[in-house]
Order: sequence, then structure tokens, then C-alpha cells
Amino acid sequence: MRFRQELDPLAPYEPPRPSQEAAAERGTDGYVKLTSNELSFGPLPEAEAALAEVLPRANRYPDRHASSLREAVASANPGTDPAKNVLVGNGSSEILLNLLQLVERPGEVVFPWPSFGLYVTIGVTLGLSPTKVPLKDSHEVKPEALLSAVTSETRAVILSNPNNPTGAYLSLEEVRRLADALPENVFLILDEAYQEFVSDPAYHGSHELALERENVVCVRTFSKAHGLAGLRVGYGIASHRVADYVERVRFPFSVNLAAQVAAAASMRAGEKIRARARFIIRERARVQEAFGAAGLDYVPSQGNFVLVEAGPEVFEKAGVLVREGEALGFPGWSRVTIGDSGENDRVIGALS
Ligand code: PMP
Repeated sequence: MRFRQELDPLAPYEPPRPSQEAAAERGTDGYVKLTSNELSFGPLPEAEAALAEVLPRANRYPDRHASSLREAVASANPGTDPAKNVLVGNGSSEILLNLLQLVERPGEVVFPWPSFGLYVTIGVTLGLSPTKVPLKDSHEVKPEALLSAVTSETRAVILSNPNNPTGAYLSLEEVRRLADALPENVFLILDEAYQEFVSDPAYHGSHELALERENVVCVRTFSKAHGLAGLRVGYGIASHRVADYVERVRFPFSVNLAAQVAAAASMRAGEKIRARARFIIRERARVQEAFGAAGLDYVPSQGNFVLVEAGPEVFEKAGVLVREGEALGFPGWSRVTIGDSGENDRVIGALS
């Protein structure tokens, strides 16, 4: 068999300590897992109740259109029409894939770098060439640099906002200016996996930009603040035309029955999710303060993680598994997920 050559560099990610990560997930050998920007709390009771209620119906296909989920998303984002402006997917990963499936080939997809590795994988898999635009020395995104990387071949700009793995973000005003300056035939994909943890309240209206402009899309997830990473469900807000095209390429039933009902119930309990996000924001400040007090360089974060200039071994000796910066473009650094108070105490304890 011969396979497409451009797939050769796409080595699957191999975590350095898979057995420890698995044990930490089971809670068996005293390690805590702060590697993957998950929430340390389980799903809301509302989501668990919804799951229990549908399990006996798992013999049936789910609602092909995920109508209740779309309605819950639309009510949480004023001005959004559930049938016209909401995207759903098997994780926000599938939505990113579906969006890039819409654009013409050949072409380029532009994004800041380091950022989320999946952009490279999806781009290359779909035959689009990735253009990586380096972050500023302060680890922030340079909107002007993104714009100057756009060529006549550019089909999409993807902005992880806040950016994984740095946690830095562009304000809504800066995003709006970027959208204004981009050619109308270039997608601006705002990957807002961590938007619930942005402390600036103005940012939470970013979906309006997607409703105003055909080429702007917000992509969000239930994997982080909603604590539903294991169910694989994400959503997006887009113009009607984009939503219509995404629905043409999306796999039928890609959002399973359990994911649909748990995500809808969690979305309807918005105030509880916001309270959890406020907890993470407070704990993030506490962890960052401790990094500062220990004399460690870190990037002030708007996500549920902090990138800090300390190797993973610093945390591992205290029984805390973190994502090694090496794999993320920051050798010698670690990305530390903000956990529950006990887990964050252990992170802080590792510094002394
Ligand atoms: N975007 C970013 C920036 C992420 O960090 C992640 C998960 N790590 C995702 C998208 C994908 O999330 P999911 O597919 O679980 O929704």
C-alpha cells in the first residue's frame, strides 16, 4: 500500500507516562492528572439525571438534528436561531473538521503558533497547507502578523482564543478588528474551547460577531467548563449559510444520544456552569500567584491552565502529572491544568 506522503509527519501524540496517566484517572496510585485541561468535577447533577433518563432508549438512534441541544445553545446565546445558526459536533474537534471541509482546495490555513496541534492534523489531512505564525516574545498572538500571513491562497484563519497552550487571549475589540481587516472570503474560525474562563465579561458576547458576518464562526465545547469531555460534544455559532453547509458534510448522528441530552441539560443550567468557571478563575489567580512567588516565569492565563517555566519533573515529584511543554513548543516549561482546590494545593506544594 502507498499512502499520501504528506501524512508521514503526522505522528500520533504519545504521552510520556501513559500508565501513570491511566492510574491517575482511576485515582489508584496517588497521582493527580492535570495534563489535559479537563474539569476536575464530574458533570452537573442535571446532566447526570438526563443521562440516566435516556439510557434505556439507547437502542434507538438519537435525534439526527440534535434539536433540543441546538435550542439550549440558542437560548444561551441571545439572537441565535436554533435551526439556522447552531452547529453541533462530536467534540468541537469535529466542528473544526467540518468547517475546513467546506473550503476550496488547494489552499492554506493560517494560525498562530504554538497553538492547538489538531489544526495541523486537520489541515494536512484535508490537503490544506498549514501556515504557522509565531507568537510574540510575550507569548501573545500578533493580529498584524496573522493578517500579513494571509495570501490569495488562504482559506481560513484559526484563532484559539484563549490560546492553548499559552492561555493568552485577544479581547473582543481586537478580534473584531481582525475580522474587519480579513478578506470576506477567508473564514475566521474562533476556537473558543476555553471562553467560559475568560474573566472579561465583554468577551462573552463574541457570538454576535458570528451572527453579523458570514465568514466568522465561534466554535465551543462541552469538554472543559461543562465537564463532559468523555461524551464528546461541541457546538458552534455561525451564519445560516455556514450552518447549512456544515450540516451537508457532518456525519449523520455524530452527536450521540447521551451527549445530546447531557449537553443540553448542562447548557440549561448555565448559572451553575458560570459558578464553576468563577471558581477556576479564582484558583487560577491563586496558582499564578504561587508561581510568581516562587520566581517562576508564567504566561498570565485566561484558560483553565497555566503555562509555567518549570519542567514536568518539578510537579511529578509531588505526584502531579502535567503536560510537558516540550510537546507543545515550550521545552523546559509545563502546562498545568487548574484542578480542584486539593489538586491546586499539590501544585503549589510542589514549588517549595
Ligand atoms: N480547541 C482547543 C483549543 C482545545 O484545547 C481542545 C481540547 N484540548 C479542543 C479544541 C477540542 O476539544 P473537544 O474536541 O473535546 O471539544
